[in-house]
Formats: sequence, C-alpha cells, structure tokens
Amino acid sequence: MEIPGAHTPQVMPRRAPAIAAGLRDLLGVDRAQLKAALEEIGVPPKQLNMRTKQVWHWLYHRGVRDFAAMDNVAKDLRAKLSAHFTMSRPDVSSAQISTDGTRKWLLRFSDGAEAECVFIPDEDRGTLCISSQVGCTLTCHFCHTGTQRLVRNLSAGEIVGQFLLARDDLDDWVAPTHGRKITNIVLMGMGEPLYNFEQVKKAMQIVMDEEGIQLSRRRITLSTAGVIPMMERAGVELGVNLAVSLHAVSNAVRDVVVPLNRKYRLEDLLDACANYPGAHNARRITFEYVMLKDVNDSDDDARALVRLLKAHKIPAKVNLIPFNPWPDAPYECSSRKRVQRFSDIVFQGGISAPVRTPRGRDIMAACGQLKSETEKVRASDRKKAALAPA
Ligand code: SAH
Repeated sequence: MEIPGAHTPQVMPRRAPAIAAGLRDLLGVDRAQLKAALEEIGVPPKQLNMRTKQVWHWLYHRGVRDFAAMDNVAKDLRAKLSAHFTMSRPDVSSAQISTDGTRKWLLRFSDGAEAECVFIPDEDRGTLCISSQVGCTLTCHFCHTGTQRLVRNLSAGEIVGQFLLARDDLDDWVAPTHGRKITNIVLMGMGEPLYNFEQVKKAMQIVMDEEGIQLSRRRITLSTAGVIPMMERAGVELGVNLAVSLHAVSNAVRDVVVPLNRKYRLEDLLDACANYPGAHNARRITFEYVMLKDVNDSDDDARALVRLLKAHKIPAKVNLIPFNPWPDAPYECSSRKRVQRFSDIVFQGGISAPVRTPRGRDIMAACGQLKSETEKVRASDRKKAALAPA
C-alpha cells in the first residue's frame, strides 16, 4: 500500500509574508473571538452567526487564507475582511523529508523563537507531532530538548499554526478519495503540554471543531511527563487520549531520568492514570518507555512494570522507544535483543508492548535534534564569517 504523503514534493524553507500594518491576524482565534471580530467590523447582528460559520469554514475546513476567494460571502464583506484581517502561518526556518516519508519542519515565530513539528506517515494513518512550548523546562536526562536554553509557551495560534502549515505543505485540505494525509495528532513535540494547558486546550478545541478541521478527540493524544494536577482537566475538558512518559519503574531511577518525578511521585502518577476520565479498555493509556542501556531495561524492570500497571488497575499499553542518541548524551540505547526480551516479558504479563520503529533517522527526527542541528550549523557559519577576511 502506498504511504500517504511520501511522494508529495519537498517542502522548502521560506518566510511568511509580513503582516501589513493595521491588519489583525486571525490565526488561533476561536469561534467566539471570530464572531466578536466580525461584529467589530460592522457585520449586522442578524448575520453574525451565519457569517461566522462561513468564514470559519473557509479558514479551518478549506484552509483558504484569501478572503476574496470566500465566494459565498457577500462581496462588500469580503473586501472588508481583506481590509481588516489576515490569516498567517509560521515561517519555515528549515524543512526536511526522510527517505521513509517522515517530514520535519523547524518553524520560526514572530519573535524569532523556534519549535519543531514532524509528520510521520504510516500505511493506515498519518500522525502529526506538534510542539506545545519553545524548549522545555523539564530537563529529562535523556531528552535533547531540555538542553536548549530558550523556553516559552506557544500561543494557541502557534500551536494550531503547526497543523495548518503541515496541511498546506502536504496539500491535504481537500481530502482525496483515499482520505486525509494527517489523520492523528500527538502532542509529543517540544515542551510539556500540561504546563501550557490553556493554550493547548484552545488550539485542540479549534482542531476538533465540527465545522472546521473536525479531528476527533480519539485521534488526538496528549503526552505528559506526569503533571498530576492537570491530568484530570485534560480528560474532562478535552477528552483526548493520554500518553505518559514513564521511563522507569522506581522512584529512585525516575527521579534521575525524569526529574519531575521528585515533585510528582510514581505511585501518585499511576493513581492519577487509573482515575483519568475516559480511560477504559477500549481507550487505554499509553505508557512511553525509552530503552536506556543498563538503566531501566532489565528483566526485573519489565516484570515490575507489569506489576505496577496491574496493581493500579490501569487499562494500559506500553510503547517501547529505542533511545535516540544525540551528541554527548549520557545514555546508550539498549541492544535490540534486550529491547525484544523486555517487550516479550511485558506481553507475557498481558500488556501490549510493541517496540516503536525509529522514523526519520536520516533527518534526525528525534526530539529537539533538528533545532539543535540548525543552531550548530548557524554557529559554525558565524565562526566561518568571523574568520573570513573582511
Ligand atoms: N513533555 C511531554 C511531551 C514531549 S516528549 C512528555 O514528556 O511526554 C515526547 C516523547 O519523546 C517522550 O516520551 C520522550 O520521553 C520521548 N523522547 C525524548 N527524547 C528522546 C530520545 N532521545 N530518544 C527517544 N525518545 C525520546
């Protein structure tokens, strides 16, 4: 079967056109804000709901950014929309496409901050991995994102902008007969989504809107390192699937690998998972477990993992992730044999534990790596420039 998206032309780095003075950017506005914006430019109260619905449909269902093309909107209103509004996308600092069809964009936002977004095509789905923050405050020991200095939250517009840009680049607005290329979202890019919940929530509500992008909450997975106080809200207010970056089966090891564990302990995290609204056998919680040689990969660790998940009565599946090394990383990946053995033990314990195949290795699609590589190249360019004779 053909992998959707694998043969679409290569995407290019480019700057988004500057926003003309006085224009208001609609990227990231929700429906209520769109309605208020239309009211402000003089749309009569009687027409407000209908016009909001129309413009929303064009912006988020059709992906149209040119107001003049919104041909069911009255002509004078179209002119007014163009005079007051714009619908932007993030800049693309660099873009790469892997031999396996994985794509990676490094996006630059208006203040120059950058974050990554990755598209992973499979036979039966296409997953877009979205960032929630620039950098990350969690400093997980094995993750490269934590080594980056600049950290800030992304706005709802910057989060939803990643999706819109990917849909543009994959030419994925009008669904062909075999379906969309982007079918799923995972909030597993840079950052901790539960440290930026309000903006993540707003962005996901835009993406789930029935008259816009229409992505079902069942096709969205939020991944957290374990911000316990926010987990219930994610379940109640968004109802998306939950993934938890577990990576260890004891507090002693997890304290080192995922330092957030010093604040939110392993047993409390597992209780919060057991109580996650909507978790049941048909919608299991995913536990991500990165395989670190001689750190968390023994037979005993695998057995302890099964015991823990069962003791807390969590409808669970485990994703075993081969550690993706980066320069000077303090860990190595477990051997293939070890990973397989670990997987077998967890499966024998009655819990599904597939090994995730690394994707996009040739374009360094692992967390934080494109951004770091780009920074490195820029630094060496600067060095060269400094050495070059004037
Ligand atoms: N803060 C959230 C989401 C971002 S991390 C969280 O912690 O879940 C997304 C996933 O990528 C996590 O499971 C993380 O453990 C994994 N990851 C990060 N760096 C990795 C690496 N070098 N190799 C393999 N997996 C990695």
